[in-house]
Amino acid sequence: MKDFSELKAIFEAQGHPSFRANQLLHDVCQRGVADYKDMSNLPVTLRDYLNENLPILSIEEKQSSVAVDGSVRKVLFRCKKDGKKIEAVLMRFKDGRRTVCVSSQVGCAMGCSFCATGKMGFKRNLTYEEISDQVLYFASDIRSYGETISNVVFMGMGEPFNNYDNVMRAVRFLNDARGLNIGARNITLSTSGVVPGILKLMDDGLQVNLAISLHAPNQELRESMMPVAKKYGLDELMDAVTKYTNKTHRRVSYEYVMIAGVNDDLSLAHQLGNLIEGQLCHVNLIPYNLTDGNKFKRSLNRKMDDFVKILETYRVPTTIRVSLGQDIDAACGQLAGGKV
Ligand code: SF4
Repeated sequence: MKDFSELKAIFEAQGHPSFRANQLLHDVCQRGVADYKDMSNLPVTLRDYLNENLPILSIEEKQSSVAVDGSVRKVLFRCKKDGKKIEAVLMRFKDGRRTVCVSSQVGCAMGCSFCATGKMGFKRNLTYEEISDQVLYFASDIRSYGETISNVVFMGMGEPFNNYDNVMRAVRFLNDARGLNIGARNITLSTSGVVPGILKLMDDGLQVNLAISLHAPNQELRESMMPVAKKYGLDELMDAVTKYTNKTHRRVSYEYVMIAGVNDDLSLAHQLGNLIEGQLCHVNLIPYNLTDGNKFKRSLNRKMDDFVKILETYRVPTTIRVSLGQDIDAACGQLAGGKV
């Protein structure tokens, strides 16, 4: 749905006071009303106008799958404006967190070798509305069980910093107390290493979390896995992270997908420790998820445990991420717009 400033402009152009925008946001985001006819606090003429001209959501569900243990729901959405397909995932963690992983683009231009989305190529940027509507959809979905969305991660399809303005507008919408009111500290932006985006975020003043998809501790290996590294080298990336943490005093997360025989040699754990020792950071080791037609395999659990132990000797806090939703291709790197 439109954010407050756009709704206000639409309402004023129709001769209605701006507080109607607050009422509409409240009805949709906080009461979960899904149909204008049920918004009895709005005048009938306005409801009729909205019904004809302003669909509440810019996307619609096309397909949905739920993991056998019920912890994950993946939805394939169709964008109403041009029929493009995107995917988003709801994760229901045992500790009570309800996290939505959203897409920021249709496809992705970054071409990371291990990622299903990268194989689709880039189609277009999503609008702020198409991004925040993925969260609104799940928010209304789980409201019926008395649950609310606690966290949002930009780790679905696309590179968020290649669609910076729409992503930040969606973040502000999600954070807006008149709407879903999701704390900025519960929102994580994940980048493959687009340095200008990191520096922009540093100056933006929003208290969101930053995750860097690192996946390799040296330039040569990183370039072979992630073409973005040719444009923004590891030294430049590390400089940007240092500037970011110095200015914001916020901890960054490094994402490191563990792929057998590619980036899991224990010498690389030492290289990683040397690279980020002393930084305000945390490492998430992500067990690689098999995707169709991919040549890679997940590292052995023992290898991942050894990686953690080595990084601890460098005093780098490290966890192995619990990967949910593998049985429905909803885990990290597996989203591919329904493989269309
Ligand atoms: S890992 Fe992220 S940045 Fe890389 S191709 Fe996949 S979606 Fe794009």
